Amino acid sequence: MSGEPIRIAAIGLGKIARDQHLPALAHSDDFVLAATVDPLGAQIGDTPHFATLEALLAHGPHIDAAALCTPPQVRFPLAIQALNAGLHVLLEKPPGASLSEVAMIEDAARRANKSLFATWHSRFACGVAPARDWLLDRTVQAVSIRWREDVRKWHPGQAWIWEPGGLGVFDPGINALSIATYILPRPIRLEAARLVYPTNRQAPIAAELSLRDAAGSPVHMDLDWRQEGPQSWDIEVETDAGLLALANGGSSIAFPGEQRRDFPDNEYPELYAHFAALVRNGRSDVDIAPFRLVADAFLFGRREETEIISGPRNAGRPDGRHCCSGAAKGRNAASHRHHSRGPARRHLRSAHFLPVRGASRPWDLRRAMGGR
Ligand code: NAP
Repeated sequence: MSGEPIRIAAIGLGKIARDQHLPALAHSDDFVLAATVDPLGAQIGDTPHFATLEALLAHGPHIDAAALCTPPQVRFPLAIQALNAGLHVLLEKPPGASLSEVAMIEDAARRANKSLFATWHSRFACGVAPARDWLLDRTVQAVSIRWREDVRKWHPGQAWIWEPGGLGVFDPGINALSIATYILPRPIRLEAARLVYPTNRQAPIAAELSLRDAAGSPVHMDLDWRQEGPQSWDIEVETDAGLLALANGGSSIAFPGEQRRDFPDNEYPELYAHFAALVRNGRSDVDIAPFRLVADAFLFGRREETEIISGPRNAGRPDGRHCCSGAAKGRNAASHRHHSRGPARRHLRSAHFLPVRGASRPWDLRRAMGGR
């Protein structure tokens, strides 16, 4: 395997697989896309396609690795199955739906002697490594994280994000925590949290976290999924040498007294280069620090309620309008994958709570039982 391309299967052909994983793999010298798996997704070119991982393992071509790009709630059985079949495994973030299942996946990788990479794509944004290097010799005095985006724009029609394990606003918020836990020279812990839930949803739409680093410096985090207009993915670190500012999710950086520098997005190519190095060197990379902080917020955050989000069909739209309305479509045509992906079934299924294939998926089970 040393110099050979690693034969990888992409499991879960949703938004992130199509936007990032498949393009990164297409341009990688380290990997070749050998198969895809998705319950409803269509075959991509000549690449063999399967509805389930079982079918791929039973009838598919030889593969060395699997990239699990599904929602987190279904990742555990897929990861265990892939590792037990002798595959190296890449987990999209967050690495699972619970801390205990991530520990079990890690243990399974160790026993199978396979590489496991629990990815945090934001750590590969171009400003992040320079920020970490610069902060190593500085005294951090205070940190402010502002992660505000429009759920209607980035998660149209995704029901799983509002279900237990879907994390709600922490789905993007964990990206900020993945950067903070990587660049700050000391560990951070949660002191208090306020989580704002739509009354008819199982995951928060907004949150405010008070954290503190090991030296006592405060870290404030403001997350909101109701942001219209310009979006905010900013981290500011006050230090004894001035203010370090990361913006655009880590792809822009400003050192004290210097002009801001903006870099192109190269997160997923870098992420796959790292995975290749892990596989070729027989290593794993699993850091649960960001996930642990989110779990802490759910563990002792104070709950507040806000107005309902209407309609299963409009799962991503707090205003209750269908995500395929002209305005929403025009704003973000790229994210309307489900229009081009064909099956009217996809809409039907979410619109009418139809019992569906793959009842192992918790959000489908809830729908099948008529839950909201
Ligand atoms: P998504 O658009 O809902 O796509 C998930 C895909 O996985 C769907 O096609 C789904 O099929 C499929 N799937 C579900 N269960 C499966 C199974 N057992 N086997 C194979 N495929 C299965 O979600 P997404 O936005 O791509 O997010 C997926 C993960 O990537 C999440 O953990 C998210 O946090 C992370 N991520 C997302 C983004 C983003 O911009 N969206 C960015 C970075 C990371 P069905 O639709 O038929 O259920």
